[in-house]
Amino acid sequence: EEKRRKIENIVRPFILSDDDYHKIMDKMLDNFNKGLGKETHPKARVKMFQTYKGDFLALDLGGTNFRVLLVSLDGKELFDHIAECIFKFMKDHNLIDKVLPLGFTFSFPCRQAGLDKAILTSWTKGFKCEGVEGNDIVQLLHEAIERRGDIKVNCMAVINDTVGALMSCAHSDNLCAIGLILGTGTNACYIERLENVGLWDGDWDEPQQVIINTEWGAFGDDGALNFIMTEYDQKVDKRSINPGKQVYEKMISGMYMGEIVRLVLVKLVKHGLLFGGRGSEELKQMGRFYTKYVSEIESDVDDHFKNTKQVFEELEIPNHTEEDCRIVQHVCCLISTRAAYLASAGIACLLNKMGRPDVAVAVDGSLYRFHPHFHDLMMERIQQLVNPGITFRLMLSHDGSGKGAALVAAVAHRVA
Ligand code: ADP
Repeated sequence: EEKRRKIENIVRPFILSDDDYHKIMDKMLDNFNKGLGKETHPKARVKMFQTYKGDFLALDLGGTNFRVLLVSLDGKELFDHIAECIFKFMKDHNLIDKVLPLGFTFSFPCRQAGLDKAILTSWTKGFKCEGVEGNDIVQLLHEAIERRGDIKVNCMAVINDTVGALMSCAHSDNLCAIGLILGTGTNACYIERLENVGLWDGDWDEPQQVIINTEWGAFGDDGALNFIMTEYDQKVDKRSINPGKQVYEKMISGMYMGEIVRLVLVKLVKHGLLFGGRGSEELKQMGRFYTKYVSEIESDVDDHFKNTKQVFEELEIPNHTEEDCRIVQHVCCLISTRAAYLASAGIACLLNKMGRPDVAVAVDGSLYRFHPHFHDLMMERIQQLVNPGITFRLMLSHDGSGKGAALVAAVAHRVA
């Protein structure tokens, strides 16, 4: 029992109260309004980027696989590589002689200056690539395509992955008004009335609405979330490529969740509360505990702990007991639940702000897709946090970001 109490003390900071979640929602709403505001707020942490309000082949950059390849490149090489990928794809599909419109899903904070013009504000999610920040990524892509001279592709539209998710669901469900990503990073967009957008300087044609890309991953960069940050969150942040940035994202998304769990497990081992005080070299390695392990471990429903033991094997942990399995499962559960609840606070905040009676939320990303409880945890928590009279659904957007970009490009091409 002494041991149990010690473990609970170590993991307690991950359990937040109802009050905490309400406080987070209040601060978030404040950030949203500042971001939308009449005066420019250079200090607004949640940028609330307007997307281009237009009349409504896909390329998706922001995916994990691309990142692994590209951290060592500079901007020119990055876009040369992308052009090369387009060339290979077109060659494989006998499209080389065709002139194709392209929709580009680019999942980083951008100031959108037109449907086909997006200026990168800052890299996130582990990307760092010289010479791109401050530049129009469509122009960089077109320059790279011209350097090659062997493909005829016209990038018609650049959209954020949240917008892609929203678009691909709104296509079949006209109550869909929020796009949410829970993958490597986290972000959300929603449909806002123009009258609420202080910074709006575009046309006022019907429908008087615009999609706002909140870039909510940056929530907390001003210290608003310090009151819930644990020592493990601080460590993850400090060791990241962008310390002090994307604070909310780092508490929620797939790029960081496994690492938070790992840091807690290391601490438990150090205090002799797990694996008999003996972990493994693997477990001590930063980034070695994958977020998919969290899904696998939490998918164990009986005392056989088949997946959990498999993970221990992969981490070369020599001897472990059934109690160890239970403890690790408990840690995973607390950390993924906090993530689901934090994302829920964000969605509930948007739903309350929008005030529509019935909203479908399009969700994409591997964390939401594969974690066994994320959907249920979010449904339950959002239900508890939304104003009375608001109903909502969370629907999985299948390959939303890619399809959404293709959809927008196709429409842009047709009206051009
Ligand atoms: P991206 O967001 O980069 O476009 P994904 O939506 O596939 O791509 O998200 C990738 C992230 O999802 C990675 O950070 C990874 O850790 C996490 N992930 C992958 N598989 C799983 C899983 N089974 N359960 C939970 N998270 C996962």
